[in-house]
Amino acid sequence: MDIEVAAPLPVTRLKGVGTAMELKLQRLGITSIQDLLLHLPLRYQDRTRVLPIGSLRPGDEGVVEGNIAAGDIVQGRRRMLLCRLQDGTGTLSLRFFHFSAAQKNALRNGARVRCFGEVRPGQAGLEMVHPEYRVLSPGNEPPVDDALTPVYPLTEGLTQGRLRGLVMQALEWLDKGAIEEILPDTLLRQWSLSPLCESIRYLHCPPVDCDQAALLEHRHPAQTRLAFEELLAHHLSLLKIRHSLREQGAPVLKPTGEFSRPFLAGLPFELTGAQLRVAREVARDMNMAVPMLRLVQGDVGSGKTVVAALAAIQAVENGSQAAVMAPTEILAEQHFNNFKAWLEPLGITVDWLVGKVKGKARSETLARTASGQAQVVVGTHALFQEDVHFADLALVVVDEQHRFGVHQRLTLREKGRDGNRTPHQLIMTATPIPRTLTMSAYADLDCSIIDELPPGRTPVNTVVIADGRRQEVIERVRQACAEGRQAYWVCTLIEESEALQCQAAEVTAEQLREALPELRIGLVHGRLKATEKASEMARFKAAELDLLVATTVIEVGVDVPNASLMIIENPERLGLAQLHQLRGRVGRGSVESFCVLMYHAPLSQQGRERLAVMRESSDGFRIAEKDLELRGPGEVLGTRQTGMMAFKIADLQRDSALLPKIKQAAAVLDADSGLCQSLIKRWLGAGDDYAHV
Ligand code: ADP
Ligand code: MG
Repeated sequence: MDIEVAAPLPVTRLKGVGTAMELKLQRLGITSIQDLLLHLPLRYQDRTRVLPIGSLRPGDEGVVEGNIAAGDIVQGRRRMLLCRLQDGTGTLSLRFFHFSAAQKNALRNGARVRCFGEVRPGQAGLEMVHPEYRVLSPGNEPPVDDALTPVYPLTEGLTQGRLRGLVMQALEWLDKGAIEEILPDTLLRQWSLSPLCESIRYLHCPPVDCDQAALLEHRHPAQTRLAFEELLAHHLSLLKIRHSLREQGAPVLKPTGEFSRPFLAGLPFELTGAQLRVAREVARDMNMAVPMLRLVQGDVGSGKTVVAALAAIQAVENGSQAAVMAPTEILAEQHFNNFKAWLEPLGITVDWLVGKVKGKARSETLARTASGQAQVVVGTHALFQEDVHFADLALVVVDEQHRFGVHQRLTLREKGRDGNRTPHQLIMTATPIPRTLTMSAYADLDCSIIDELPPGRTPVNTVVIADGRRQEVIERVRQACAEGRQAYWVCTLIEESEALQCQAAEVTAEQLREALPELRIGLVHGRLKATEKASEMARFKAAELDLLVATTVIEVGVDVPNASLMIIENPERLGLAQLHQLRGRVGRGSVESFCVLMYHAPLSQQGRERLAVMRESSDGFRIAEKDLELRGPGEVLGTRQTGMMAFKIADLQRDSALLPKIKQAAAVLDADSGLCQSLIKRWLGAGDDYAHV
């Protein structure tokens, strides 16, 4: 059954919407009448009853009515009009800083006035500052509102009154079918969802007797109804991507064992049970004629790289190429070195391509990549520039995917496409993603979890102390390094200013060099040239440096087993997932490791709770769940991911109970049907580039 949904009606169809208003509405993401109908109130005002002045409490908002007992211009620090309003139950001051002579005149002694405003404590009892008011003529008391008043998100130059007026007009179009019900009856009934139009109308003008508390907490059935539909649309758009990809063929890659057997035999360790299980899932996917779309989640240090190497080997065993993409040059270089050390002894050619590979070296790598001579190519996003061509790319590995946005992930798929053949894709992330989020943000991927760390790892001892004890911490660094260990000192700053962050790291490095003259101290931050960064990292890795001062650029993947102490300054500024990532840089060897979270007092209640989670848990998944609870999905998924997660109405955390239902509901719909197209179009609009793969 296909539903033809009429084209959206432009907002200019509403009375009073000219070019200027059209532009303002655009800033709110509203271009059609449908958009306006889905622009829901942030909250509501109750103007449905007149409150006795005597019952008012500070912070209340409402309607009062009474007689002006005194209206005077008062000369305080500023000239103002101060009136006393009495209704027989009490007195309230009305304070105006801006007023005209006519206003002063209207608010004269004895005038009967109805006001709406917020009640605040004033110098002489309660008051309203600049209330909305209306002078009533004797015998003419207009009725109060019969519905709650919606308060909408606004933009500059647009008032509540104006927007309310437009919404009221749009609601008339609702009666004429401006928004059609797309969800099938069976589905509405199964999940007890109320009809769409009814829900929209309810939310714009809730009746007086509605459950206001539920509305304010966004758990009213009318809100749930809309959130459900929106989440479903997002979910379907991801499924659609998945379908269209899987319609394309992929090379069938048989695991022959030719290289994987000697590779495994040559490793100085046995794979963990979890690594073996995930490696088998990957091998099975790649042996099929539909492209693999697999996300491998594994905590820091769980050994994802070996799993990626096995996948690359499987491509090579079939005479094809594999590309391995890392988010930074440091990580790309580390992978390059690892892969070279593992694969070259087997006779496999490994190349690399990052921004700093230039000139002749670059053109040679490009030539080897294009001829197929380079069997495994490691790099950064430089791998996917225009001039990079692969002879026979059969596998793309994306490491630390959370650093790339969803869009980049999809561009990458495009780049790898060759005719109607798509390479297999293996996406790896060390940021454990709570299950509910995986379901919504990664509905296009299959998911494997490496839920076991290699044996012999000792959990990192985490201590939380105030930066007043900096001197003690410095002594601790001195001692650890004297014993031949290495340490990280991580400087954080508010993320917006990379320049300031780098500067702070420079200053800290200087201070530490003074305090610890006997140590060899290095520095890496985002403003160094890639070569400088890499050489500093290399020196640290080669134990030519004792202490590495760094900004959060060292966050992902860097592996220096001898580093067993990490100091993190101002950890309260970072998300838990990021702290967990950072902490994962230590505890990679067999010696006992320490992480010192040196916060700046005072900590907020939430700050204390968050650091306590770090102290008590080393389980990335638990930490991620906690982060989600404390800070919401935007923070957990990273800002780059939130672009696609920008919901109009739904909130992944608040509505997380809906997600399993969404998955079930989506399963009975055909993501490619007209019905789903219409849903996706309604909720993701033209901005769903990623749905057009
Ligand atoms: P991550 O999952 O964080 O990317 P890596 O792949 O970098 O982890 O592995 C971390 C370290 O653990 C590396 O030094 C790697 O060689 C080692 N390692 C991986 N698998 C095992 C294993 N099964 N037993 C012991 N050490 C392992
Ligand atoms: Mg890694």
